[in-house]
Amino acid sequence: MNTREPDHLNLLCDLTELTAIITADADIETFLAGATGLVAKHLKAHVCSIYLFDGNTHDLILTATRGLNPDAVNQVRMKPDEGLVGQCYSTGRILREGNAQANPGFKYFAAAGEEPFNSFLCVPIRRGVEKVGVLVVQHREIDHFTFFDERALKTAATQLGGAIENARLIMALPGETHEQKEIDPGFPPFVRGKSDRAGVAFGMIRPSRKNRKAVIHTPDTSGKTYTLEDFKTALEKTTKELKELQEKFAASLPESASLIFTAHFMMLRDKKFTGKMEEKIREGRPPVEVVQELATKYISFFSESPHAYLREKAVDVEDLSIRLLSNLKAARRTETAARGSIVVAEDLYPSDILKLTADGIRGIILAGGGATSHVTILSRSLDIPLIIADDPVLLQLPETTRLLMDTGQGNIYINPDQKTLDLFTAKTEAETQTEIRTVLDKTLTRDGSRIRLLANINLLSEIRLAKELKAEGVGLYRTEFPFLIRPSFPSEDEQYLIYKKLFDQTEGGQVTTVRTLDVGGEKALSYAGSTKEANPVLGLRSIRFALKYREVFDTQVRAILRAAYGKKNVRLMFPLISSIDEFLEAKKVVADCANALQTEGIHHESDIDIGMMIELPSVLTTINEFAKLADFFAIGTNDFIQYMVGADRANKLVADHYLAHHPAVTRGIKTIADAARKARIDVSVCGEMAHDPIHIPFLIGAGITTLSVDPKFIPDVQQTIMDIRMADARIYADNLLAQSRISDAAKVLASSPGKKR
Ligand code: PEP
Ligand code: MG
Repeated sequence: MNTREPDHLNLLCDLTELTAIITADADIETFLAGATGLVAKHLKAHVCSIYLFDGNTHDLILTATRGLNPDAVNQVRMKPDEGLVGQCYSTGRILREGNAQANPGFKYFAAAGEEPFNSFLCVPIRRGVEKVGVLVVQHREIDHFTFFDERALKTAATQLGGAIENARLIMALPGETHEQKEIDPGFPPFVRGKSDRAGVAFGMIRPSRKNRKAVIHTPDTSGKTYTLEDFKTALEKTTKELKELQEKFAASLPESASLIFTAHFMMLRDKKFTGKMEEKIREGRPPVEVVQELATKYISFFSESPHAYLREKAVDVEDLSIRLLSNLKAARRTETAARGSIVVAEDLYPSDILKLTADGIRGIILAGGGATSHVTILSRSLDIPLIIADDPVLLQLPETTRLLMDTGQGNIYINPDQKTLDLFTAKTEAETQTEIRTVLDKTLTRDGSRIRLLANINLLSEIRLAKELKAEGVGLYRTEFPFLIRPSFPSEDEQYLIYKKLFDQTEGGQVTTVRTLDVGGEKALSYAGSTKEANPVLGLRSIRFALKYREVFDTQVRAILRAAYGKKNVRLMFPLISSIDEFLEAKKVVADCANALQTEGIHHESDIDIGMMIELPSVLTTINEFAKLADFFAIGTNDFIQYMVGADRANKLVADHYLAHHPAVTRGIKTIADAARKARIDVSVCGEMAHDPIHIPFLIGAGITTLSVDPKFIPDVQQTIMDIRMADARIYADNLLAQSRISDAAKVLASSPGKKR
């Protein structure tokens, strides 16, 4: 073995010098060539080359070399998984081969003239955590490079990283912020993502916003002339179209009645918008041009606003203008294109999802990574298949792409062939046939312990399914949805109507648990102030927001108390309670509102059960005192886990830390269950953990006798419980609770009696 130790210090000094040169003089080729020459000299290598990654073509390009054929520069290209260079880049690891040609991954590039070089050493070049290329040295002799060379080359790559990135920018090579994927040609056959329920959807990709926006910005070259009459007809048609959509929504989603298109309707009547358009057309300007001109003006006006709610308006103007132009030109209408399509987006607001549902889309693929939990929850409530797949490929698919979503597996098939389609059609048919499952009125474990199954309701439309599936009440009604999908705070009367509908439909001796406003954090209301928080999840959210904005809170509590009048078993609970003081303050708001309603002579329910959600670790040490003050507890495990282990529930990067079986989480739940039992108050779990078969045995074994889940999970949850003995669940829970290490808890979890369904 060769024991030469390269001259590290000289190499570093020279490279520093080189970096200084590039900063002063931007001749990239000279810089890169100089760099390869220096490295080759110091490592006594016959060849040194730099390959840079091109984010457009997803190729690694030979950008500079000392020792290979100079004509090969910019000619030799490879995919990130091709050859040893590609392998080093895609794995991000150093690759040292004593005899490169013996490696099965070796690929010969004739243009480079690299045959005689046997020893091969390659290191990734990074900028920060991103890989931007690779640095390679080669030598004729077998086994030439040593561990010391490895270290020196790594140092050189680090040293060069910043300067090379500058070079890349000047050369306009776009980079990638994500793991590199081969995109072109012919896209991968499928992309894997995550979903939380089984389902299949097939359709054309929905034209991207950028392309739909082109309608507004592309001059009309059709040669057709339009009249003022045409414009007026288009206005009427657009109004009619929106009214129809609105009515459809009012029937299926009462909480959104007259809300979603409010801004559209207002603009359709606005003198400064459509009024101005008419004026200009009367002056003789072509209608298409006028609509485009005013739309562009308002879009840029709104999108430049520092206020989020005004920026949102830009999307409304855009949407309305597209509809108007499409109707004017009687061209292919956007909603026709949207119907039956699959939306691929980086990010969506809950209100976007409602609008898209109105447009009749079949599925949603979120390619931006951190989907907010409420987007997931809402798509589930609306029964729109959703896959979250943080893969840049998805955002580059052309508009002729057909997509097949298999949410059960989280797979997205890109332009699937007929065989794949047939397979899924057969599968869906079989599933639809077996889906009708009988649900029993009561849920008992195998050895006869009674467990109560309640429903989590987000939209009123879900109550029907909850009843069909025999939910024994509502364990969580998330009141924030009407707030999230509106352009402003709903009034007391509007809320009253929504809550009254809920209570009317759920009456019958069963509990209906209403949670007060849980906004802020990742459920931001664009219209609720423009203060930007550095850490919104630790910020002014949930009950803190409600107690700060008392008029908003009072309005809601009054609406709930009024709607609960004459109803039995309506319960109220506060989210994210962090201290006894806060809980008492919130309770006082309810008492004050009841008093005010009394004074005003308005019918309301004054004796209502008041409970709290347990989502913060800060309540654990005083849990027994809480149990004396609260009428019931509801454990929100989604947030409880997040705050207990300090890992964002929606952040894929820390998903490995977000663990329901973490000892702090399981022991915390046990503490809460014990406190509730001692104080004889009801305790339920209403986070996602409650519907996961693997976690159910622990929950019931730890003493939780009420689970609240999204209605569609009820049959499976019931089946899981019916398959377990309470005696076994207790032993299993004790065993899990005895573990102090996550790794040991994971082993116990793997033996969960709930998983073998
Ligand atoms: C929870 O945190 O578990 C919960 C049920 O509330 P949400 O998911 O609405 O935050
Ligand atoms: Mg929560």
